[in-house]
Amino acid sequence: MTMFPPNLQAARTRLDAIRPAHYANTRNALDGAVTLLSPYITHGMLTLPDAINAIKRRHPLKPADKLMMEFGWREFFHHVWQHLGDGILEDRGPAVSPVEYAQTLPDDIRQGATGVPVIDEAVRTLYATGYLHNHARMWLASYVVHLRKVHWRVGADWLYGHLIDGDLASNHLSWQWVAGTFSNKPYLFNAENVARYAPVATHAQWHSPGTAVDQDYEVLEALAKTTEQVGPEPGNHPACIEPALIELPPDCISSTLPALKRRVVELVHPWNLGEDTESNSADFRLGVIHLPFHHRFPWSAARWNFVLTRMRERCHGIFVGDIKDLTPHLVDSQTQTLATLNPGYAESLQELADEVRPDRKMFSEPEELCPSFSQFYAKVSGVSLTRKPPPKINTKFNTHKQGRRNGARR
Ligand SMILES: Cc1cc2nc3c(=O)[nH]c(=O)nc-3n(C[C@H](O)[C@H](O)[C@H](O)COP(=O)(O)OP(=O)(O)OC[C@H]3O[C@@H](n4cnc5c(N)ncnc54)[C@H](O)[C@@H]3O)c2cc1C
Repeated sequence: MTMFPPNLQAARTRLDAIRPAHYANTRNALDGAVTLLSPYITHGMLTLPDAINAIKRRHPLKPADKLMMEFGWREFFHHVWQHLGDGILEDRGPAVSPVEYAQTLPDDIRQGATGVPVIDEAVRTLYATGYLHNHARMWLASYVVHLRKVHWRVGADWLYGHLIDGDLASNHLSWQWVAGTFSNKPYLFNAENVARYAPVATHAQWHSPGTAVDQDYEVLEALAKTTEQVGPEPGNHPACIEPALIELPPDCISSTLPALKRRVVELVHPWNLGEDTESNSADFRLGVIHLPFHHRFPWSAARWNFVLTRMRERCHGIFVGDIKDLTPHLVDSQTQTLATLNPGYAESLQELADEVRPDRKMFSEPEELCPSFSQFYAKVSGVSLTRKPPPKINTKFNTHKQGRRNGARR
């Protein structure tokens, strides 16, 4: 049974269960009351304004509330994506010097066989569910980059492929945030932090005493700044099988296109799987799978299943190939779609469609690029995240000890 049924009812059930105050108090713990909405938000089955309106019908919700800020992080990452395009896939700032990062992911990480329980559990959970709690994503990324010295982009591509909620902006910029190329401090964690947020009752198997992460922050910081990588823990550790990432499932074939002359056609891409709005006048919904994107960013079978099940439910037919090959079929029809920033889809749909509706946002988009979340959030919501300056600390790393004080922790 999948954790994320690919239908709108499942998203609504999740929305109804949200209690913002409980969320704020528990979200950092692995068994906390997180919403589990991310696959539905990523694929456009739920917009942030609709989610907020639905929550507000049951609970008070203000921009200063934790849940609103987390929604805000997604908008911030998309704001950066809007401005930088594919630039989000490259280092936004200098990495930790003088480290040289590897360009491949070691097999023991891929196979969940590092011998560090928090990492191996995260990898197994990811493969089994297509989802990871935010804290687990941060731990995994920090271990890969700072202790194993793998370039964040390598880890980001791998994680993106396996997540059902994989979103290039939220994922790749979060990896950069952890690496320190998109934040003022790289992010580190230790075994104590895992023990704190992985409750014994439900997640004791994540605890990692006596491993490479069981160190004081000073030791971890020093390690992160050297060229040395820690390697897997000594001994043999059981390995799991990594699910294949694929460009397209073998059973996904293009439907034969009917005559589309003089019809109003909605082009439904994988991030546009919500309901039609009342003003949508389309009389034919055509699913589009643009292969050049998927060649570049392959997905797990679980994500394909999520996307294609919903796309089949929503569409009269599905086109698979290069979007520009659709042009002759649509010459006498009127075409419309929802804007997306996903590379390849973005440009091709812009060229093909007569009307591209803007994505619905919770805040109006600032014209100029805001380089940090706090600047962005202050501008769009009026909420200032700047607190009293923290006491001087003799480190250049972002750890749990200080992060909460300087407001940089997520
Ligand atoms: C290394 C790393 C990779 C990540 N990759 C992705 C990704 O590919 N896709 C993705 O949607 N999120 C990603 N995130 C952000 C975050 O981990 C997930 O959005 C969140 O865990 C999803 O679970 P949830 O829906 O229960 O979140 P909740 O905590 O319930 O939050 C509600 C919603 O707010 C948004 N949100 C919450 N936290 C963040 C955040 N830190 N950044 C951006 N949006 C956020 C999401 O849309 C989420 O569904 C990543 C974080 C890290 C550290």
